[in-house]
Amino acid sequence: MTIPAEPFRIKMVEPIRLIPREEREIALKKAGYNPFMLKSEDVYIDLLTDSGTGAMSDRQWAAMMLGDEAYAGSRSFYRLKSAVEEIFGYEYVIPTHQGRGAEQVLFPHLIQKGQYVLGNMHFDTTMAHIEMNGGIPVNLVVEEAFDTSLDIPFKGNFDIARLQSFIEEHGRENIAFILVTITCNSAGGQPVSLKNIQDVREIADHYHLPLLLDAARFAENAYFIKTREPEYKDTSIKEIVRKVFSLADAFTMSAKKDAIVNMGGMIGIRNDRSLFQSASSSCVPYEGFITYGGLSGRDIEALAAGLYDGIQFEYLESRIGQVQYLGERLRDKGIPIQWPVGGHAVFVDAKKFLPHIPAEQFPAQALCNELYLEAGIRAVEVGSLLLGRDPQTGKQKTADAEFTRLTIPRRVYTNRHMDVVVEALASIWERRDQIRGVEFVYEPEVLRHFLCQLKPIDN
Ligand SMILES: *Cc1c(COP(=O)(O)O)cnc(C)c1O
Repeated sequence: MTIPAEPFRIKMVEPIRLIPREEREIALKKAGYNPFMLKSEDVYIDLLTDSGTGAMSDRQWAAMMLGDEAYAGSRSFYRLKSAVEEIFGYEYVIPTHQGRGAEQVLFPHLIQKGQYVLGNMHFDTTMAHIEMNGGIPVNLVVEEAFDTSLDIPFKGNFDIARLQSFIEEHGRENIAFILVTITCNSAGGQPVSLKNIQDVREIADHYHLPLLLDAARFAENAYFIKTREPEYKDTSIKEIVRKVFSLADAFTMSAKKDAIVNMGGMIGIRNDRSLFQSASSSCVPYEGFITYGGLSGRDIEALAAGLYDGIQFEYLESRIGQVQYLGERLRDKGIPIQWPVGGHAVFVDAKKFLPHIPAEQFPAQALCNELYLEAGIRAVEVGSLLLGRDPQTGKQKTADAEFTRLTIPRRVYTNRHMDVVVEALASIWERRDQIRGVEFVYEPEVLRHFLCQLKPIDN
């Protein structure tokens, strides 16, 4: 595929610097062999996450100057409300400080203790908020999602047969709601087809269950629908987004992804006034008054403008094209990656890259560390280190896949930066048998991957 040039030119730059190898060695050691603990100044190309790391456009920066900082009823809120009505067709919106704020405010009104929440694959904060409300998260993604080399277009799809049989088996009254995550972050940013969401809607209707979207990457998902689902090749991104959202009753969204802001999120409710009222009353103590939800007026302006930026076809083509560019070049070098690549990241299969390192020595983490030493690139582990221990037995769980995730921020790096990543991984590939696993020096009890300290294992 030929990738079009970026549909923008650059009018402000932020210098970055590759510190010398000896300094990288010291920095990584000081960070406890955990890239989360590195200073960003010591990182050359930062592929830790695409969340809140995008570059805003001139329109977003200009909109910030128009921020209305009124405590209640600000003009900026009404600008967001009209964007949400126009783009998603939803009557109600509540801004929140980020995606998890939306989950915290909305979920208590939808989950009763002991109820299941059925998802294709829940994101980790989403899972935590379901559990904190006494719910049980269940993942029902298609089996093919776990085959990293199988080339099919919609690996984020719900397994419709399993969804139906789960509801039949456990009873409709024991299900809180169905949640479709677009794109499916935890399955590698893999998309969900419009046909699949329609099928989920039919099931939701049949059993009278609410259907929600976890819509962080709604625009990237729409791009995949347009380019991979033949029926929609002539439908605009905006129309596809409208269709997808018309199939749901409500959504939670982290605006730090496809709305290209550094902080922000929201709850959208299609037309259920009483749900809106309940969520509003929770918003006040947690996030603040319902027209600002933890955000300043200028943040809300940037968010409203970012929603329009994020659904431009030319932008999406170049954004997803860049992720594909990186994926294709790594594949050309023989480096094992998840295929096809998803919307926001390339996942390197560390189990195949470092077959001599067992899961409990965290091969994907070892590869992250090596990548930093090699070229100052920061990636993130998505594997057994992230998964953690069995809460009952305390035994290390083994993840289905050990991934080193290269997450691409929006509108930030050029393809030349991607080439540097390819060159670095190709050079590590040549000497991969010399790379050692890691072990704990300090292991926090919860969410250990963020704060743990590790060291390389001596041979
Ligand atoms: C990022 C993300 C969230 C949580 O949003 P935050 O803004 O990080 O709080 C929820 N769901 C999905 C799918 C996400 O990608």
